Amino acid sequence: MLPTGGPTPRLLCIDDDPLQHRVVEHLVGGFRHASYVCEFADTYDEGLAKLTSNGFAVCLLDHKLDRGTGIDMIREARRLSIDTPIIMMTVDDKEDVDLAAAEAGAADFLLKSELNPRLLERTVRYAVKLGTTLRQLREAALRDELTGLLNRRELQSLLQNEWLRAVRFKRPFSLGLADIDYFKRVNDTYGHPVGDQVIRHVGQVLEATLRRLDRVARFGGEEFAILMPETGRREAAIAMERVRAALAKSPCVVAGQDLRIPVTLSIGVSVPIEDADTPDALIAVADRRLYAAKHAGRDTVRVED
Ligand code: GH3
Ligand code: MG
Ligand code: MG
Repeated sequence: MLPTGGPTPRLLCIDDDPLQHRVVEHLVGGFRHASYVCEFADTYDEGLAKLTSNGFAVCLLDHKLDRGTGIDMIREARRLSIDTPIIMMTVDDKEDVDLAAAEAGAADFLLKSELNPRLLERTVRYAVKLGTTLRQLREAALRDELTGLLNRRELQSLLQNEWLRAVRFKRPFSLGLADIDYFKRVNDTYGHPVGDQVIRHVGQVLEATLRRLDRVARFGGEEFAILMPETGRREAAIAMERVRAALAKSPCVVAGQDLRIPVTLSIGVSVPIEDADTPDALIAVADRRLYAAKHAGRDTVRVED
C-alpha cells in the first residue's frame, strides 16, 4: 500500500563509504510498496546532526565510522531523545555487535552482503511502524486523558528541568497553581459528566490565554498547574490575572443542554529562589497562596503571602 498524502518520508543512511550510499539508493529504488527520499551522511558528526533534526522516518547506520561506532551513535541518539528508528548495517556478522546494537536500542541488524530490496523494505516497514507506535505511546504517557493537557508527572519533570536551568543560568520562572471554585456544586447540580466538561473548558481557556512557551497541566481533579519560563513574579501576576479574567468572562457552554455554567479560579503563584529552595517547596508555596486566595473570597490571584 502506497502511503497517501503528506510529504514523502525521508530515509537517512549514515555510512563512511560513498559506494554504500549508491547501493542503498538502488535498494530503496527497488521498494515495491513504499517510497522514501534518501539522504546521506558520511561522517559521525554529520550523521548525528541530521538525526538530531528528528525529521527522518528511519535511519540505516553503518557500524564503523570515521570516529566512534554505530553503537556509540545509537546510544547518543537515545540520550538526546531522538526517536527515529535505527537499523544497523554491517559488513561482518559479529555476534557481539549484534547483541550490543539490540541492547543500545537498534530496531534491527542487517548484513550488507545479504541485502536485497525486499528484505530491506520489510525491515524498514516494521521499524517505521514500531517507531510510530513508540512515539504515540510516549506522547500519550505525558498527557491527561480528560483534557489532553500535560499530566502531573510530566509537569513535575518539566519543573525539575526548569529549576536546574533557572539555577544554572540565573533565569526567572514562575509556577501557578489554580483550583476551580465551588466545583462540588457543579457536580452536585449537573452531574459528574457535566463537571468533566467544565474541567475541559477550563483547560481550553488556560491554553488559549497563555503564551506558547507556558506549559499547562492538569495537576489533580479540578486543579491545574502552569509553568511559566522566563517569567518573574510581576509578569506572572499579570498572566494569571489575564487567565482569571478570561475565565470569569467565558462560562462553560454545555452543548445540547442549553446550559451556561459560570466558572472561576483561585490561583496561587510562587517563584524560585526567593520563595523556595526546592521544586517541591515551590509547589507547596503556590498551594499555600492558592488557599489564601480561596479564603480571600475566591476568583482571586495571590502572588505573595
Ligand atoms: P473550593 O472553592 O474550596 O475549591 O470548593 P470545591 O467545591 O471546588 O472543593 P474541592 O476543591 O475540595 O472539590 C473538588 C471536587 O472535584 C471534589 C471531586 O468530587 C471533584 N472532582 C475531582 N476530580 C473530578 C473529575 O475528574 N471530574 C469531576 N466531574 N469531578 C471531579
Ligand atoms: Mg480542589
Ligand atoms: Mg475546588
